[in-house]
Amino acid sequence: MNQAWIALGSNIAPRETYLQQAIQTLSEHEEIKLKQISTVYETDPVGYEDQDQFLNMVAEVETNLDPLELLHICQDIEQDLGRKRIIRWGPRTVDLDILLYSNENMNVEELILPHPRMHERAFVLVPLAEIAAELPLKGKSVQEWLDALPTRDVQGVRVWGSLNI
Ligand code: AMP
Repeated sequence: MNQAWIALGSNIAPRETYLQQAIQTLSEHEEIKLKQISTVYETDPVGYEDQDQFLNMVAEVETNLDPLELLHICQDIEQDLGRKRIIRWGPRTVDLDILLYSNENMNVEELILPHPRMHERAFVLVPLAEIAAELPLKGKSVQEWLDALPTRDVQGVRVWGSLNI
């Protein structure tokens, strides 16, 4: 079995329903076992800032699927939940990124593992540290990467609540 961590985000209403449905679909897949989910956080948009606040969370799964198969399932979920991307970094119903897949280091056109920007994003590191603080990532732990972020970034990530799974 491989262990993978998936980041989920949504900033189009009903945000929590999109997260809930994405988690539900992942957990119902016969090749995926949902192990843990983080709290849901409300976060300020990063990059393209003229858009609504996001809800973000992280899930840990176990799977025998290979990384690209898992990516394609994540992309199917995004499509099914009606993601329409008009602006890069812009509003989306739901976004699923694979953060880490066991100790895999991968760099192909479709998939980069570990996710190339995860270590600089508070909206990823805060929920990930909640469920996997000691996980190694690019020579540090997740918690160490989080501690290295500017306070302002971390303050932009606030507890919103929990999903009813
Ligand atoms: P995003 O804007 O984050 O949804 O980016 C989606 C694009 O990133 C897709 O074309 C994916 O093939 C690519 N991609 C590269 N690495 C990853 C990853 N670790 N997880 C998800 N998508 C990835």
